[in-house]
Amino acid sequence: MLNFNPKNIEKVDDDRLKIVWEDDHISLYSFQYLRQNCPCALCQDEWTGEKLVDPEQIPANTTSARAELVGNYAISFSFSDGHGTGIYSFEHLRKLCRCEECSPHPGSQWN
Ligand SMILES: [Zn+2]
Ligand SMILES: [Zn+2]
Repeated sequence: MLNFNPKNIEKVDDDRLKIVWEDDHISLYSFQYLRQNCPCALCQDEWTGEKLVDPEQIPANTTSARAELVGNYAISFSFSDGHGTGIYSFEHLRKLCRCEECSPHPGSQWN
């Protein structure tokens, strides 16, 4: 199992987050995308992984006012829509990376 820690977490601008991983892999996420993939029980069925949030309902200008480290394994975001219960483990974040290297079918898997 891949288990990487970030060595740098940076808010690039209002709507994007950048993570540099300890293996020097770089992930860029929009907060909209992170919000759409919130792993909390309200947004995702804990057992089936089925999404309970309609991605269409998450505005493109979603931002995060606050990001907090949770222990040394996760980050929690407070999103501009007021939602802030999701705990994003580093493992989950790494899986969410959609750079060409991580996405088996670039351009076709997302959207
Ligand atoms: Zn959530
Ligand atoms: Zn990647």
